[in-house]
Amino acid sequence: MDSLLQHASCVTLSPPSVETADLRISGGVIVERSAHIVPRRNETVFDLTGRIVMPGLVCAHTHLYSSLSRGMPRPKKAPANFLEVLQKIWWKLDRALDEEAIYYSALAGAIDAVRSGTTIIIDHHASPTVINGSLDIIKEALESIGVRGALCYEVTDRGGKKKRDRGLDENERFIRSTAENTLYKGLVGAHASFTLSDESLALCGDLASRLHTGVHIHAAEDAYDVSHAQNTHGCGIIERFARANILTKASILAHGVHLSETDITAVRAAGCRLVHNPRSNMNNRVGYAPVHFFKEQGALGTDGFPADMFEEAKFAFYQRCDSRMGQPVDFMTLLNGGQRMASDIFGGRFGALATGSAADLVVLNYQAPTPMTKNTCGGHFLFGMQSSAVESVMTAGTWIMKDRTVTGIDADAVMEKARKAAKKLWNRMEKL
Ligand SMILES: [Zn+2]
Repeated sequence: MDSLLQHASCVTLSPPSVETADLRISGGVIVERSAHIVPRRNETVFDLTGRIVMPGLVCAHTHLYSSLSRGMPRPKKAPANFLEVLQKIWWKLDRALDEEAIYYSALAGAIDAVRSGTTIIIDHHASPTVINGSLDIIKEALESIGVRGALCYEVTDRGGKKKRDRGLDENERFIRSTAENTLYKGLVGAHASFTLSDESLALCGDLASRLHTGVHIHAAEDAYDVSHAQNTHGCGIIERFARANILTKASILAHGVHLSETDITAVRAAGCRLVHNPRSNMNNRVGYAPVHFFKEQGALGTDGFPADMFEEAKFAFYQRCDSRMGQPVDFMTLLNGGQRMASDIFGGRFGALATGSAADLVVLNYQAPTPMTKNTCGGHFLFGMQSSAVESVMTAGTWIMKDRTVTGIDADAVMEKARKAAKKLWNRMEKL
């Protein structure tokens, strides 16, 4: 369907810009932008007077499977460190996931995303009991809502070689099956240095290279990852990744909390993306990522928290209180980094409201109490705008939320089913 959005206050953060304009949308892209566009007979006109239009937001690293973890019973003995957080919580949760839980966690997470104006989710999935076809289940859930997704399956040695190989196969199958898809793409998922042998890392790097894609992997999230590499392999994580051919332009390293400046320089020189996940880092008390070194290769993720980038950006900014930072985090560059990742993964232009850009848009009902200009829009994003102001969302030219109603599914019915699936999931976890 062709659409004409009229009288919208078009706002972009990077570069900062505020301008009232009309946008013509056809074939999933913005085909015209001008101060006044005369409607055509074949297009639907939307009057957005008093509304802000921004490019759809990108969540550059998350785990949709954790959507059903909210409020789940805590382990009997509190985890003492990061490894125990994984062993006692997340590695139990992912082993307890069945097809129904994968589906409803993805659906619930995607509903959170669209209600927050997030149109692209870069997900990292693990479900050792259901490996084959698991990425299709997530894709099916995202498709029913219309959120774009770059998906991968987490390859790891923690379940033995057979499961590792099934993980590699699932990535390959999904990457090939989505080669021509414009809304869904595959990457090669890998857990982290400390659960991958040299051989397994090399298999991930080789697969990504053969399929012309990148590896999406956790890097130095906790100090344990770094000391494990030194003690077990006698070198740093980045050296291991480089040897395994993982440091490429298409690869995504999540966290980077304990990477040194030298490590980050090498990562940046290779063209990899580094994804900052401030809420998760604070929650797991793993430390403060040296985000100021990420520069334009940084992006923002939620690492299992709801894909609400308004919220995540606030945490990224307020964390500057950490004495090591000394300067505020450039959250606009981080958000824009996600847009550049989207452009690389999906092709085309994201993060702009210009002719030729993807028609992935957010309409906000935000009443600014101070002037909204290119100099102030960042301040409004940080100190005023919230996901509750997101009124409508469009991906590839289609409204996937209109006037706060998710259009593709009955969100109330989905959440009802998700609650039932969550209960069953928690029961299975108790028995592990
Ligand atoms: Zn993660």
